[in-house]
Amino acid sequence: MTANTLPLNLLALNANELSAFIQELGWPRYRAGQILRWLYQHRVVNIESMTNLSKTDRARLQEVATIHRMESLPPTMASDGTVKFVWNLEDGLAVETILIPDGRRRTLCLSSQVGCTLDCGFCLTAEMGLKRSLRAHEIIGQVLNVQAYLPEDEHLSSLVFMGMGEPLVNFEPVAEAIQRLTNIEWGLGFSPRRITVSTAGWIPRFPDVRRLGVNLAISLNATTNEQRGRLMPAVNGRYDLSELLDACRQYTQFSERPLTFEYVLLAGVNDSPEDARRLVRLLQGIRCKVNLIPFNEFPGNPFRRPPPGVVDVFQDIVRNKGLDVFLRKSRGDDVLGACGQLGRSAAEVLNQSTTNKKRSLPFYAQP
Ligand code: SF4
Repeated sequence: MTANTLPLNLLALNANELSAFIQELGWPRYRAGQILRWLYQHRVVNIESMTNLSKTDRARLQEVATIHRMESLPPTMASDGTVKFVWNLEDGLAVETILIPDGRRRTLCLSSQVGCTLDCGFCLTAEMGLKRSLRAHEIIGQVLNVQAYLPEDEHLSSLVFMGMGEPLVNFEPVAEAIQRLTNIEWGLGFSPRRITVSTAGWIPRFPDVRRLGVNLAISLNATTNEQRGRLMPAVNGRYDLSELLDACRQYTQFSERPLTFEYVLLAGVNDSPEDARRLVRLLQGIRCKVNLIPFNEFPGNPFRRPPPGVVDVFQDIVRNKGLDVFLRKSRGDDVLGACGQLGRSAAEVLNQSTTNKKRSLPFYAQP
């Protein structure tokens, strides 16, 4: 440990790095486990609260390390109870997380990148381009902070990587965050079954997702290669529709879990009865369910949401062919928090980062 790297953020270390750090301090190995439990199970926000460390050891640790959590602008609540958080990152960038309450369920939609490297035409995040990928502690920080925001009797039921960014392009930090989320011994103890990673179709990482044991969702959105090439040119240019479907077929052969296909319905583009019939044919032989998402409009984007009648016909055709198909309710669209609408608040923070830095406040309870 050198003077110019201090103070070290304990949340930025993985378990191995923390062990090495503990050894550098000349402490016994088990101390790493104690500290990890304080960070992820007791979720303390300062070293002083680590009361099974002696006063001397806490003082020593405070000299060289800290616990730095991201800070948020005041969260915005939509009329349906959906809450949007905009996090200020250390380098002045910003990223968004959406909390979606539904009865007693609390779903958290996580971001993996600031902006996105891909360019899906129906997505507001794409307009930002990629600013940078998030690090593991910036991903898990979204969960820790939202847990602190919730009242004590409310708990997160599921975590979905469907926010800003393509998680499989930023796989290593996403996988590290998932390991901390699912570790039972010292981590947050989430069941992998309650975590879903959604991809635009970055197929080389599919086997890695299977090994993590979490759910995989595919953002499909088209029934011909030509249509997908127009809607999602970057990803489809690398892995076209037939390669994607082959990878999906292989995935379900080796995985206990069915896949989820997300299909954003765009008026007059991919919402015809013929599209519905083609979709059924494409998914033959793949264990899956389909989520239909009527497009969430946003200013400046040419796509439109299909009328409810068109959505119903599409759903009926798919259902009558025996597929499990669900209509996803639009949530949080009045705060630009719905699917495909993330990014504008983060971009605004980015544009005004120097002035906003002064106004941002940590919202989680400081002891
Ligand atoms: S839909 Fe997902 S993968 Fe496509 S541009 Fe938006 S954030 Fe990126």
